Amino acid sequence: MQRKIGVMGGTFDPIHHGHLVAASEVADRFALDEVIFVPTGEPWQKTDRDVAPAEDRYLMTVVATASNPRFTVSRVDIDRRGPTYTADTLADLHAAMPEAKLFFITGADALQQILSWRKVDELFSHAHFVGVTRPGYELADGHLPQGSVTTVEVPAMAISSSECRARVAAGRPVWYLVPDGVVQYISKRSLYVDPGR
Ligand code: ATP
Ligand code: MG
Repeated sequence: MQRKIGVMGGTFDPIHHGHLVAASEVADRFALDEVIFVPTGEPWQKTDRDVAPAEDRYLMTVVATASNPRFTVSRVDIDRRGPTYTADTLADLHAAMPEAKLFFITGADALQQILSWRKVDELFSHAHFVGVTRPGYELADGHLPQGSVTTVEVPAMAISSSECRARVAAGRPVWYLVPDGVVQYISKRSLYVDPGR
């Protein structure tokens, strides 16, 4: 039987329970065999701030997903040189698993951006897109190819990486917003302590 694989791309700076709940909900809804988390390489969309080193974001993602037998992490984007394009992510994963059906999981906000990216048609040929709605974002599907995107409502989780970084910088807790191991990793590596970074 064809394997069904979720692909969850993100900066994961840091990964938080919003990402994990979204992946879990979509996995349940589409009966996915696996969800692959793919931390971005150089995040060209976020040039207004410094992003934590790819290796730290990768390791936090590994720590956060380690306990779930259906969650894995891929290095395709951080090992590819240059900025990350979703078309490249999907092409690489498709080449590695040509028999699998891919479901690209993305927040409604990121989905809007995807439509402005290059190679949009190629994107939709490689994967079915799943837009997870989160508090404060409405999915406007005006330009989406018919039947190529499904929306899934994720239980209200107003958690964002920006909020987690701001909390660490202000000396406030991120316990229970991110997995325990990620709290400890952030502290061990002194990530996000300097708000100018
Ligand atoms: P930032 O605050 O820096 O923008 P973020 O919390 O949006 O970070 P990203 O790594 O940019 O995290 O997100 C990766 C993917 O997860 C995106 O598709 C995003 O829309 C989605 N996402 C982020 N937070 C949530 C959440 N709380 N619930 C559901 N999806 C989310
Ligand atoms: Mg975001």
